[in-house]
Amino acid sequence: MAFQRFDAGRGSLLLPALANGHDHGRYFSPVTFGAVDQPLETWLAALALQPDLDQHLTALAYLTRLARSGVASTMHLHRARPLDVLVDEAADVCAAAELVGLRMAFAVPLQDRNHVAYTCGGAGSTGFGTGLDGVGPPWRPTAVPSVPALMDAVDSIAAAHESPTVTVQYGPLGPQWASDELISAIAEGSARTGRRVHMHLLETRRQREWADAAHPDGLLAHLDRLGLLSPRLSVAHGVWLRAEECALLAERGVTVVVNTSSNLRLRSGVAPVGALLDAGVDCAMGLDGATLDDDGDAFRELRLLYLLQAGDGLDPRLTTEQLFRAAVDGGARAVHGGRGPWGLEPGAAADVVVLDREALTRDVLPASQDDLPLLLSRVTSSSVRHLWVAGRPVLRDGTVLGVDEEAVVAELRARQAGLPAVDPRAAALPQLQEDLLQHYRTAQHRRRQGG
Ligand SMILES: [Zn+2]
Repeated sequence: MAFQRFDAGRGSLLLPALANGHDHGRYFSPVTFGAVDQPLETWLAALALQPDLDQHLTALAYLTRLARSGVASTMHLHRARPLDVLVDEAADVCAAAELVGLRMAFAVPLQDRNHVAYTCGGAGSTGFGTGLDGVGPPWRPTAVPSVPALMDAVDSIAAAHESPTVTVQYGPLGPQWASDELISAIAEGSARTGRRVHMHLLETRRQREWADAAHPDGLLAHLDRLGLLSPRLSVAHGVWLRAEECALLAERGVTVVVNTSSNLRLRSGVAPVGALLDAGVDCAMGLDGATLDDDGDAFRELRLLYLLQAGDGLDPRLTTEQLFRAAVDGGARAVHGGRGPWGLEPGAAADVVVLDREALTRDVLPASQDDLPLLLSRVTSSSVRHLWVAGRPVLRDGTVLGVDEEAVVAELRARQAGLPAVDPRAAALPQLQEDLLQHYRTAQHRRRQGG
């Protein structure tokens, strides 16, 4: 069982640390630069205007916040970048993970089509003579790297930065954003080397509609024919998965990472967690840089996942054991492929979080001190006191040991304050978002070119 309670008296509560199965390593929320909550497809257009800030400082601040939230392992799917920039930023992020001391998978973003909008056609043009055809950087890159160049980038980043706690994964951004040639190369590379794969899948209604139009015989069956579905694959979201697709994912041993707050904030929906568990799919929990209060609080995310998925029956649709298995074992499997359970074992190099039990129980009568209901109803980041990762202390008395968090955040804020007040590229955003709405409202994402 994933959840084991070690009652260390009234003072503290020890748990296996949480694992964040899907994230992107942003410290400043998209809301801070104008990418406010809205449907994913227009939000992504706003997200492209994310300011360029030092990636080492950004990752230090973001990983430190995760540590203070009781997270020991995290999936970092980096933003799509030109390859030379990507290689440099991978170095910055991986070095930050080593300094903070968290386990991290750096998923290398891989995309070679549909940069602006989903289409059923070829490499990039919408092909419909709409306003989207003329869109350039930062939304559509001036040059799209070849599949061999993308695969080489993964190999070189892995060769330079893998360690006992940092691994590198293939990160195809999603089936609508990766060609069959790219998916096949990833599947082949993963089977040959054992390298894991992390990908967005069926996050929104528009992606479901695109998948049904582009693959009338079934997107999941198609990905399976390309060899992508395996125990080495974890997929984020899966909000729009159907029962037969859940069964196929279970059969292939794929992990599905559920991102509850993000799916609510970006109007994607609610993941079918009950159906996934019924089918036997391993689930994990992710923060996806968009938690309920925009603060990266992993325990609050855990609570929202539980409340939203427990259902309205007399018995919970999601049990607390399944919840903790997802938030601990599932995420750890997505990040580093380890098989749980990740309970606390004497002598093991464990990932352990210690909560301030005294603060949690201050108003609780001694006779009713069962810790699990307290854990589910009131723990937040503010309850986290210590964290050990791989047996090493990372957080002590709420302070991260490897990094001067105050100095890092102060420097990052100073750099943020030094950015130009207005990004000149932002002038084009409203029209682009209007054109995107028109694209999806008129079902251009479902139109097969030539058909
Ligand atoms: Zn994501």
